[in-house]
Amino acid sequence: MNDGKAATMLTDAQEGRTSGRTSGRVVLEARGLRKVYGSGSAQLTILADVNLQLAEGEMVAIVAPSGAGKSTLLHLLAALDTPTSGTVYFDAKPIDGRADAALAEFRNRAVGFVWQRHHLLPDFTAAENVALPLLLRGTPLSQALETARGWLKEVGLAERAGNRAGELSGGEQQRAAIARALVTGPAVLLADEPTGDLDEQNAVAVFELIERLHRTHRLTSLIATHNAALAGRCDRVVGLEQGVLKLRSVGLTKGGTALAGEKS
Ligand code: ADP
Repeated sequence: MNDGKAATMLTDAQEGRTSGRTSGRVVLEARGLRKVYGSGSAQLTILADVNLQLAEGEMVAIVAPSGAGKSTLLHLLAALDTPTSGTVYFDAKPIDGRADAALAEFRNRAVGFVWQRHHLLPDFTAAENVALPLLLRGTPLSQALETARGWLKEVGLAERAGNRAGELSGGEQQRAAIARALVTGPAVLLADEPTGDLDEQNAVAVFELIERLHRTHRLTSLIATHNAALAGRCDRVVGLEQGVLKLRSVGLTKGGTALAGEKS
């Protein structure tokens, strides 16, 4: 492949055109994101200049070593943390500078977040855990529980809705955490090593569940993972190197386009 063609393909992949399933409308965007911890000589630049566009319907993987800043980036995109500089846009509107209530609304409705550790409340039932985001936004208890049970059915846990979260297996807990992330009907799913704590068989099953929900609920998804095989199933893969996002060489993308290198 000549360099010009490779560059065009890289640009296409970066803009999310490989899958052919995206509308091209940018749902979530990071522009010039910088995150610095500490001050003076103890200053640590985790993200130097991150630019990323997630087009509607895209499923994108971030693959980078531990400590590279994946969680930091996902937290900034979910408005769980604020950048030192730079801006996150949701539907072309900046999410910084919003009033607290609008930020809470963004976190609760626009973005669903899945952590590596499920963070379920062990003494509450699976249904109560999944219902929590709905209760936070004022949905009556019976309605919230009914919606939560519907989601538990969708993630294959219909029979476990009444079990305490602490009684579920690791794979089941992560399924419940995914249901909790999506119960409010967000446009974007952000997942931070969602299969990192699971054995290979459960990791594949949970990833396949995310793929199915991504498709059926027309989500836009960004998934941090160490698992190159799972990452390779996404529409595109980006890496984080020295605080900057890079398109990763992963052989074949989902659309079958060969990627020939890296481009920041
Ligand atoms: P990853 O998710 O890729 O493993 P993280 O985003 O969790 O990486 O962390 C990136 C770096 O930022 C690590 O070196 C971590 O120690 C550091 N870090 C994370 N949070 C803080 C914090 N609140 N204060 C100082 N350093 C932090």
